[in-house]
Amino acid sequence: MIKEILSGKTCAECRMCCIFDRYDIWETPVFTEEIKNKVLEYVPDAPFAKVGTGYMLNAGEITDGQIYSCPALTENGCILGDGKPFDCRIWPFRVMNRDGIRVIAVSSLCDEVHNQTHEKLRNFLKKGLAEKIFSYADKYPETVKPYYDNYTVIFPEEK
Ligand code: SF4
Repeated sequence: MIKEILSGKTCAECRMCCIFDRYDIWETPVFTEEIKNKVLEYVPDAPFAKVGTGYMLNAGEITDGQIYSCPALTENGCILGDGKPFDCRIWPFRVMNRDGIRVIAVSSLCDEVHNQTHEKLRNFLKKGLAEKIFSYADKYPETVKPYYDNYTVIFPEEK
């Protein structure tokens, strides 16, 4: 979905968005029922919890230094391939609520995207992805995270 600004090779070699520590465990993606069921076919004990209209991973208590891997992550990458959750397909973008306004922000953990100019990222989002992200957030409000300052706001929602 964002191949124009992030190469598939960089993405495949990184996996930063698939592993979590206690500070970014809130970043685990929201799964639709269909995608959650797909993961359960491969990993029957994957710990899903219903959150709003979707499902999230219930990682339990994560201690300092501990890493939690998404159960869909294997040595060969994500078992879901192109059928991964929307949150994963748009990462390092996230939709967030900053002071009551929905914004699309970019994570500083992804150098390749984060280091591009805001203008370039805004222009990319304007070509249709911003609209898709906000309409997905209408359907799955739990994908809207509280603003976190490790993210840079690129695209506030225009009403
Ligand atoms: S669903 Fe796939 S891409 Fe998304 S966090 Fe899990 S392993 Fe990574």
